[in-house]
Amino acid sequence: MIKNLICIQCPRGCHLEVDTETLEVKGNSCPRGATYGKAEVTNPIRTITSTVKVEGSDMPRCSVRTASPVPKSQMFEIMDEINKVTLTAPVEVGQVVIHDVCHTGVDVIATKRLEKIA
Ligand code: SF4
Repeated sequence: MIKNLICIQCPRGCHLEVDTETLEVKGNSCPRGATYGKAEVTNPIRTITSTVKVEGSDMPRCSVRTASPVPKSQMFEIMDEINKVTLTAPVEVGQVVIHDVCHTGVDVIATKRLEKIA
């Protein structure tokens, strides 16, 4: 079966055709597209970005993301865990919010610095 994809590895957005049996990739303008196309039909991964609640800051929420891409198949499970989190200010950029989320080996980290309100 041929799967049609758009490569998201750079803004060029090449239209890829991936043979799901042979994993042959056509339409890519560079090797990254071939790697992406193969991964998309075998084990698709994504970086998840979201926000979590914060107490003790003048901002009600803090932006977070997975430190690296995680299996797309676990996105909802991971979002459930992210939605359970409430941070307490101060929060630093890169602070681990969830360690090894859903046993993926990947941490969820804060991407915004929030000071504690006096
Ligand atoms: S195949 Fe290469 S050039 Fe094309 S979108 Fe992907 S990364 Fe960019």
